[in-house]
Amino acid sequence: MNSDEFRKYAHEFADWMADYFENIVQYPVVSKVQPGDIYKSIPDSPPEYGESIEKIMNDFNAIVMPGITHWQSPSFHAYFPANNSYPSILAEMLTAAIGAQCMVWQTSPAAAELEEKVMNWLRDLIGLPQNFPGVIQDTASTATLVALLTARERATNYMINKKGFDGNKFRIYCSLEAHSSIEKAVKIAGFGKENLVKIDIDENFAIIPQKLEEAIIHDQENGYLPLCIVAGFGTTGSTAVDDLQALGEISEKYHLWFHVDAAYIGSAMILPEMRHYMQGAEMADSFVFNPHKWLMTNFDCSAYFVKDEEALIRTFEILPEYLKTEHDSHVKNYRDWGIQLGRRFRALKLWFVIRSYGVEGLQSKIRNDIKLAQFAEKKLIESGNFDILAPVNFNVICFRYNPGSKADSELNAINEKLLDLINADGRAFLSHTKLNGKYAIRLVIGQTNVEMKHVEKVLDVIFTAVKKLEVIG
Ligand code: PLP
Repeated sequence: MNSDEFRKYAHEFADWMADYFENIVQYPVVSKVQPGDIYKSIPDSPPEYGESIEKIMNDFNAIVMPGITHWQSPSFHAYFPANNSYPSILAEMLTAAIGAQCMVWQTSPAAAELEEKVMNWLRDLIGLPQNFPGVIQDTASTATLVALLTARERATNYMINKKGFDGNKFRIYCSLEAHSSIEKAVKIAGFGKENLVKIDIDENFAIIPQKLEEAIIHDQENGYLPLCIVAGFGTTGSTAVDDLQALGEISEKYHLWFHVDAAYIGSAMILPEMRHYMQGAEMADSFVFNPHKWLMTNFDCSAYFVKDEEALIRTFEILPEYLKTEHDSHVKNYRDWGIQLGRRFRALKLWFVIRSYGVEGLQSKIRNDIKLAQFAEKKLIESGNFDILAPVNFNVICFRYNPGSKADSELNAINEKLLDLINADGRAFLSHTKLNGKYAIRLVIGQTNVEMKHVEKVLDVIFTAVKKLEVIG
């Protein structure tokens, strides 16, 4: 392909993208294909000779698009969103074009220095103190693994990196509602998943600090080495918020690493009215949240902040001869701030998003989502048919249909069927969780382009599905 052809196709692709967003609500939100459908449609061997972009694009439309679940649809209300936005996509196009490999400062000084600056912006925006430098990781899962590895190394004077495990019986603590990435990190970091202690939760699904302290004392008395507390700051099930002040005090008392997993609701901390949740965050050793969830920045982009920069670097630093540069002593080489050597230029999309929306624009987007969620919660309550199963702290509503006088097990089966009916409608997509053994349908209102009309639509989808359920029985 020459540059004239590239120019032509780039314009056509830009049109494709704009059309996609203009028409996105016409697609069924969840892909309707069956397992294996796409695989079968793709030839078993690659083409011997190059094919035209037209031909590839035809197949993209015919084969790939039917197998896409439309995460960017404003009627995507499942899981947590993975939002993008026009400014973010534009920046990603530049990133792809530049194609820089940003492993050390010298391999693209702008990437390193922009990353440092936008991470400072983000840190200030969410109200973390200035002694938390930041680095972009691919995901919150990676960031949590990085936190646990750093905690492990600092606690052993970097000896596990050097000599391997030496019978150390470390314990990690989180709540019963903590995300599965914590357990994954515990396994990968070599602690053993039996050493992840899951602490009981209260009626709001937040960790009970007293139970946490009891578990730490019990472990100390039994020869274990308490190492790290992971706070669930906006749990995946219901956006429950662990008490950072209480957990921070316990971590200081017992000299534990304190990691805050704010993957989703960290973005909401840009709102001054939500900042009270951050009380105690200054005691954290590390804090992660995902602009790729609720801050309109394409996946992947996870903001990881760590107080002890030196411990982080000592944990990950590797300096082979071929990577040494004359600037090493006075620049940030982010390859030493995490697992991967090669790094994409992810700061660029954040820079575009933050500048393009402005702080005010980002705040009003998130504030509006929270208001829309409060509206939806009110409508569900007013209909008289639903239980709200967890406090709606932000923009996630956990509910179940409850026609009355039925046991939880029966309600679980009914609500599973209801969710199938909701999603079979095709106009919206919701997911579920279990809270205290109760099947909960989760309605998340946070997609980039979600507006009141989409909330009214999803409520209509839910109410229509309930009517169908009552008819089917
Ligand atoms: N932590 C929480 C609370 C989450 O909800 C999620 C994902 O939804 C994660 C961590 C993992 O995020 P990632 O996909 O960035 O690894």
